[in-house]
Amino acid sequence: MHRLQDPGRDSRTPDGRLTRPASQPAGPGPTPVPAYRGRFAPSPTGPLHFGSLVSAAAGFLDARAHQGRWLLRIEDLDHYRARPGLDDRIQHDLEAFGLYWDEAVVRQSQRLEAYQAALDQLQQAGLTYACSCNRRELARLCTPGPAGPVYPGTCRGGPRPGRAARAIRLRVPAQVLTFRDRAQGEIRQHLERDCGDFVLFRADGVHAYQLAVVVDDAWQGITHVVRGTDLLANTPRQIYLQRCLGLPTPTYLHHPVVTNARGQKLSKQTGARPLDPRRAPQLIAEALTFLGLAPPAALHGAAPAELWAWAIPAWRRRLARAGKIPP
Ligand SMILES: [Zn+2]
Repeated sequence: MHRLQDPGRDSRTPDGRLTRPASQPAGPGPTPVPAYRGRFAPSPTGPLHFGSLVSAAAGFLDARAHQGRWLLRIEDLDHYRARPGLDDRIQHDLEAFGLYWDEAVVRQSQRLEAYQAALDQLQQAGLTYACSCNRRELARLCTPGPAGPVYPGTCRGGPRPGRAARAIRLRVPAQVLTFRDRAQGEIRQHLERDCGDFVLFRADGVHAYQLAVVVDDAWQGITHVVRGTDLLANTPRQIYLQRCLGLPTPTYLHHPVVTNARGQKLSKQTGARPLDPRRAPQLIAEALTFLGLAPPAALHGAAPAELWAWAIPAWRRRLARAGKIPP
């Protein structure tokens, strides 16, 4: 009942390109301010856990505090790891926790043509190259970076002689990319040194996460990205990719991530337990407390809807105090 159909989602051309109202010429008069559009984008590789709840809560509260929309995108591009049935479970869990989203669910597995169109655009602009390096060569060539191995551009002149292309990479310039994160302040990254030419199309025949996220954020008209600091070091390359594709850059808020006793980010791999909907009131209260909005004692054991009804204005007041929105 809450999965509203939005006529705004039809604002795309038959080949999947975005023609969102905000990017159209404004004409006479003031440029309209795009409405707030945020998203939650889980991968169906495991059930939601407490870390996912914190991230969903932050995005949901920020969207509702701005009277904006909050969309759900299932990032199931990695079909080798996506587990059937988890998609439904994620949706049921979100509803059980009172986290209702707007508009139809978008699945990356149904968006491959759009990713290919973006890849074609980058290739035609001469911004990409084929890389023939195999796993063993990459392990030898790459240096550690803030968001994974940094590839030194060995194949920039083309694949090694007699070797087939394995992946397609984006050539990045030797320049510093800077952006202002709403929570983390100014973030700077040297694209060539800290990021390196990154993969757009993987050796296993799948479009890369970085490309899909950028294409989908623009197509869904996302204005505000709220996600964990574990993804912060990915953001400069995504902004660079947006610029290469002529797409708008959303604002970013990277919230702290939940870690386990060993300081590891909570995930299926680090043994995070799936969310138990029967404990929704307690878990929501814990998530709000983690985000710095501990509910008052009077709300102990309250239903999800009551907790959110308290938390949305509380989040809004915090934004207003920080001067992020008018009081
Ligand atoms: Zn290579």
